[in-house]
Amino acid sequence: MKTSIATVTLSGELPDKLEAIARAGFDGVEIFENDFLAFDGSPADVGKMANDLGLKITLFQPFRDFEGMPDGLRSRTFDRAERKFDVMQELGTDMVLVCSNVSQAALGGIDRAAADFHELGERAAKRGLKVGYEALAWGRYVNDHRDAWEIVRRANHPNVGLILDSFHSLSRKIDINSIRSIPKERIFIVQLADAPLIDMDLLYWSRHFRNMPGEGDLPVTAFTEAVASTGYDGYFSLEIFNDQFRGGSTRAIAADGHRSLIYLADQVRRNVQTPIGVPMPERAVVRGIGFVEFATDEDEAVELIALLQALGFRKRAIHRSKKVTLFEQGSIRILVNADPLGFASAAYAVHGTFAYALALVVEDATEAYRRALAMDAEPFQQAVADGELELPAIRGVGGGLIYLIDDKSPLGRFSEIDFEPVSEDGGKAGAGLLQFDHIAQTVAYDEMLTWLLFYTSIFETRKTPMVDIIDPSGVVRSQVVENETGRLRLTMNGAENRRTLAGHFIAEKFGSGIQHLAFSTDDIFVTARSLRKQGFKPLHISPNYYDDVEARFGLDADLTERLKAENILYDRDEHGEYFQLYSGTYGEGFFFEIVERRGYRGYGAPNAIFRIAALKRQMRPEGVPKDAV
Ligand code: MG
Ligand code: MG
Repeated sequence: MKTSIATVTLSGELPDKLEAIARAGFDGVEIFENDFLAFDGSPADVGKMANDLGLKITLFQPFRDFEGMPDGLRSRTFDRAERKFDVMQELGTDMVLVCSNVSQAALGGIDRAAADFHELGERAAKRGLKVGYEALAWGRYVNDHRDAWEIVRRANHPNVGLILDSFHSLSRKIDINSIRSIPKERIFIVQLADAPLIDMDLLYWSRHFRNMPGEGDLPVTAFTEAVASTGYDGYFSLEIFNDQFRGGSTRAIAADGHRSLIYLADQVRRNVQTPIGVPMPERAVVRGIGFVEFATDEDEAVELIALLQALGFRKRAIHRSKKVTLFEQGSIRILVNADPLGFASAAYAVHGTFAYALALVVEDATEAYRRALAMDAEPFQQAVADGELELPAIRGVGGGLIYLIDDKSPLGRFSEIDFEPVSEDGGKAGAGLLQFDHIAQTVAYDEMLTWLLFYTSIFETRKTPMVDIIDPSGVVRSQVVENETGRLRLTMNGAENRRTLAGHFIAEKFGSGIQHLAFSTDDIFVTARSLRKQGFKPLHISPNYYDDVEARFGLDADLTERLKAENILYDRDEHGEYFQLYSGTYGEGFFFEIVERRGYRGYGAPNAIFRIAALKRQMRPEGVPKDAV
């Protein structure tokens, strides 16, 4: 796929935008007139900058209110066009985007518009330029690509073509199959944008809420398949108006954009005979969480290990060459890395003790790694001792690591190859914890889309709709990435301010990361009892919660009493019941959770406010800022 992005998508000054666009791997860039006007340099300077970065300027835009003007205004409109042509020639681009007229003065009439475009085509041809026509969803007379195409067809000029924009067509629910009959050479460029489904004014929705393909809810893949079915293999250009992007990191948003196009091309390539997209492995199927690894040092490891032991984990093995200990319970494996060398140690130096890495068990680690790199993931490598395994790894949330392991290669036997078994405190029973239920990662709100796209493009997963969790100090946005089998469940929490517990976690940890680990049990009451015996202190839940939950769900008084006695939270959905037990916080807001699902499919979002309030009560006074109640 030939990739392009409009400068309007990104924040920053024009030179920074161009640099970020080139770095992200785009082939081309659309120059927005406003970006250009705000820049203190000539069109030729901009053209040179783009050229030096290896970027083709795919088009210059916008040229507004052109077609169908009454006679008095018509000649002025053509004069304006000639001035745009001057700029384009200096810039070094051959295409201008003309969007459908929104002026009250416009007269309408398809033949009249076609005649105007024919003349514009003649003028453009004299200079070797091209004119692309786009139907705005709110155009006064032309707001449908089918009408824009009819005008282009009747203009009948080789220098006049159609510009398709997924947002304008999909937001108005226009039948995208109408694209399939357009000759590919008459489509001059295709612009892409997705958007979350929000029922609001089209213009406002478009100007503020667009996002990258795959980040929203519009059928952008089906749209692109329709385009690809014509044989079109020109530029696909992101044109995303989004307030958050315009305030976000220029480089990160550009990187997301590139990833979204690569992912889109791969999806389209699998369904349509098309030259766009390159062969690459399918999204990796995740079979489970191999392990979660904590970075710490020898002193801080003591408290962490005591907590793991109170949760029923047993020391099973120690690393042959590093200070890494493996704890196990059921099929859950936790590594505690207190080695003074290597990445974990460096991560610990910045963040303190935290869960910096997780390993995903995939069907084929080599293929999954190739997929990840094809999706612009950042590879990670560090030296390993002779005879030890090198686990393929990529950088994940907050600069942490995601290791990829499988059962078909020696990677799945890392705990035997790299570790030596130990037998600790012999026959002591665990607490009935079986496997990872979910892993919760907390990120700054403006990184949410980045990581959702990261996970869904690399791994065979889906994302659930976003839910708002009310922290007493603000809103935390929560969205889940999960796979069909439930073996991979990640909850992503986006914090907008540091007074929320999630925000405090980010601020104190100097970044995003895993904030809690949830383990499953098949009998939460038995687990709670044995944990109590081993000295585990659950998070104390207010008695008021139990009055509320009893009334809300019509629970037996007896069940309510048992829940209260063990500080267990309760929820229910149409599929079944859910039980949750929390630890207190460790460090700056990390905690463990134990859950029992009886058919339930959610994550206990209605309980989050009670859990957050309880954690904050426990962390005060020295933890969360005083006013963060
Ligand atoms: Mg557009
Ligand atoms: Mg949870």
